[in-house]
Amino acid sequence: MEQHPAANFEVHDPTILAQARAIMDATESPRAWAQAVIEAVTRNEEWRGRRCINLLAPEAPTSPTVRALLASEIGTRAAEGHIGRVNRWFAGTRHIDEVEALCVELLKTAFRCRYADHRLMGSMLGNLTVYHALSQPGDTVMTAAQPFGGHSSNRLDGPAGTRGLNIVDVPFDPVELEVDLDAFARLARQVKPKLVVMGMSMTLFPLPVQQMSDIIAEWGGKFIFDGAHQAGLIAGGQFQDPLNEGAVVLTGSAGKTFSGPQSGMILWNDPALTQPLTEAIFPVLVATHQVNRVAALAVAAAEMIEYGAVYMAQIVKNAQALGRALAERGIPVLAEARGFTRSHQVIANVRQFGGGLEVAHRLAEANLIANKNLIPGDKPADWDRPSGLRLGTIEITRLGLMEADMATIAGFMARVLVEGEEPASVRRDVEDFRLPLQDFYYNFDNGWPPALGKTEAA
Ligand SMILES: *Cc1c(COP(=O)(O)O)cnc(C)c1O
Repeated sequence: MEQHPAANFEVHDPTILAQARAIMDATESPRAWAQAVIEAVTRNEEWRGRRCINLLAPEAPTSPTVRALLASEIGTRAAEGHIGRVNRWFAGTRHIDEVEALCVELLKTAFRCRYADHRLMGSMLGNLTVYHALSQPGDTVMTAAQPFGGHSSNRLDGPAGTRGLNIVDVPFDPVELEVDLDAFARLARQVKPKLVVMGMSMTLFPLPVQQMSDIIAEWGGKFIFDGAHQAGLIAGGQFQDPLNEGAVVLTGSAGKTFSGPQSGMILWNDPALTQPLTEAIFPVLVATHQVNRVAALAVAAAEMIEYGAVYMAQIVKNAQALGRALAERGIPVLAEARGFTRSHQVIANVRQFGGGLEVAHRLAEANLIANKNLIPGDKPADWDRPSGLRLGTIEITRLGLMEADMATIAGFMARVLVEGEEPASVRRDVEDFRLPLQDFYYNFDNGWPPALGKTEAA
């Protein structure tokens, strides 16, 4: 009998699913199946955790304490709703309330704002919260398209799309990678967006938040800063301060520059927004909300308050040094004339080396982990095979590396890409460089990195 093609539809790579199936077919023992999972986790820890130079921009190592809290007993307890005995459905949440209240207060301190929410699993849900709370189906919103750094959460195929919004692109200057403010003013005055949501996954320079907010204020439009990537830089005072520049809501991912457990954070100042936002969080988007993650987030916020300014400044200095070192070695980097970056990211144009997909996988064979990225000039047809490569300096900074070390890392990359050396031979040198570096700094476990020469106790 002929099968309907839809019956075979599989979104995952069928070869990798077949490998998992083969493991399960090889034995009838559930214990052995569990063991196979644990072994894959261990292989990852040995490779990505100990032997790779991880340059993924949306990834951050957590401190030992934050990581340990993710396995704490409190994570097996159920809590839903708002903090406090009357607000909760379940009894027995006394200590959970203490942890959650500390998390909220620490986030408010870290971001210097009046309100914070800690319950979302990711900032994809943070953005959905904003769309649910502050827009109606049919409203017009303006957001950034992906080739300029925009994120699907603010586009038709993401949360914004599920809300049935009319999405209009924020105009960008493709050379300077900046919002084209004149074009934005013209278009915005024409379509009068209810919200402008700027969420940049490719983020090199601060945005003109004040100017854009002033324009849309003419008809009561609200500016939302989706700071998934920049949250740590913002908390550390090293990028821009959207809530003081006109943004009414800041959303952020705790697992990116903020260097905590993967979580969504929502920050705001206006008491009038508290009810719509928190009612969208509970009971619309979360019920139980992983209190282990909340505890870990609270400690990560305390680390940011203590170490954030210096840690985030070093992340930016390292990114600028990495951009310069790559350019010097013949790897074209965007925004060279502007000093490459003011964030944790560096964007290389690797078209001449085979494009982002090919290059990212070749580098991964040398234990250098990065991701392909769309850059201006890429067409929708290039979606899977874009020209860019995005690099981030979060993990290498938390390992204690400084500007001078960026030349070493750029050198490894140039050997693979420019000199055409076999990735396997570069990998040996990458491992020699990485294996002695196994401690994460800028936290209460390990204090400041030795290279900073700071003497005070952690
Ligand atoms: C990563 C990212 C998100 C999604 O964040 P998660 O925490 O992974 O859900 C949303 N917006 C932007 C701009 C991002 O870069």
